[in-house]
Amino acid sequence: MFDVKEIRKQFPMLNDDKMMQNKKLIFLDNCSTTFKPQCVIDEVMNYYVNETSNSHRGDYDLCFNIDQKVLKARENVARFVNADVDEVVFTSGTTMSINLIAYGYGLKTLKKGDEIIISEAEHASNVLPWYRLAELTGAIVKFVNLDEKGRVTANNLKKVITNKTKIVSFAHITNVLGYIIDVEGIAKVAHEHGAICVIDGAQSVPHIKTDFKKWDIDFLAFSAHKMCGPTGVGALIGKHHLLKMMDPFLMGGGMNVKFDKCGDTSYLESPAKFEAGTQNLAGILGFGKAVEFIKSIGIENIHQHEVELKKYMVEKLSKYDHVIIYNADSEGGMLTFNIKGVFAQDEATLLNSKGIALRSGQHCAKILNDFLKTPATVRASTYFYTTKEEVDIFIDALINGGDILDAYFN
Ligand code: PLP
Repeated sequence: MFDVKEIRKQFPMLNDDKMMQNKKLIFLDNCSTTFKPQCVIDEVMNYYVNETSNSHRGDYDLCFNIDQKVLKARENVARFVNADVDEVVFTSGTTMSINLIAYGYGLKTLKKGDEIIISEAEHASNVLPWYRLAELTGAIVKFVNLDEKGRVTANNLKKVITNKTKIVSFAHITNVLGYIIDVEGIAKVAHEHGAICVIDGAQSVPHIKTDFKKWDIDFLAFSAHKMCGPTGVGALIGKHHLLKMMDPFLMGGGMNVKFDKCGDTSYLESPAKFEAGTQNLAGILGFGKAVEFIKSIGIENIHQHEVELKKYMVEKLSKYDHVIIYNADSEGGMLTFNIKGVFAQDEATLLNSKGIALRSGQHCAKILNDFLKTPATVRASTYFYTTKEEVDIFIDALINGGDILDAYFN
């Protein structure tokens, strides 16, 4: 049974004692990061209090125990996105995962004149690694046209893709507008032209069902902290043959088979090949627990709850002419808006003064501003633990919040 009130009891950050500006904290910045349930906190704590040891580096039970737990976390993550266990590489998060593709796969395969296709709606972490790759290889970064709403479509991809395109990389759900793209259709178009399809799942894996195998995508990147897990850990999922041919990005302990004085080296098979150095073990265990927790809530329940809250916000706010909504009909849970005549950061500051945490600015998607025709927006993003009452307080503060100057001078 999906019971928000019961679920909330498991999150210390949702306790009534959590205040901001002497008001009860209302957290509507879940696209940025999410709160952690007690079971994830306990898992991380338990590693430090009872189980500390390194992984794959000791011939004793304590170490063997961590090896088993890391494997279990990897299995949990693999099952969650329908990938094989050895297709899961632990990274520090989405940003590192995409950089790993750019450096490990892109540097090895791209040459001058090759093309990388992205969209204007991408987060910096799905833009800047490709700019850098283009700089290093002489490849070109091209943009697919967004449709009139701001969505990437397979049809528009067909208009820009050529046989020189080697990589297409899009967010499954973009972090400003929140449209869900047709990943399967896009992967098909990419493959017909000999390109690989990279999916930035930072905003989708925590919210909707993911099926790496069925969609036939080549790489998937996501972060644990956006799905109730610890910060500083995430995953890169890659097809076997691609991980096999890719170069490691970091060299060091834990990823090599041998090296000698002449410089001869050989590396372990993936995923170990990409996990040089001591990993964020506490984070990985917490990530595995977070996946179990999300599964216990049910990803369909999560999406449904967010969609209901989003519809509710749109319904309530559309009545007001001075509220500009940029993504009323997008399928993701976030609402992106502005108040006419009020700079986005001022609005966020006003809401902060009421105890409401949300994001304003460009949300790391700096190219999208031209499409939106505004320098900045405010984004309210819910998760499965957000209540209708919290949304009501937010709406009331937005509509009846008083003068913006009050936030600065009171
Ligand atoms: N991609 C998208 C769509 C995001 O929303 C974010 C974070 O907000 C990222 C990538 C980067 O994620 P991280 O900072 O966890 O690496």
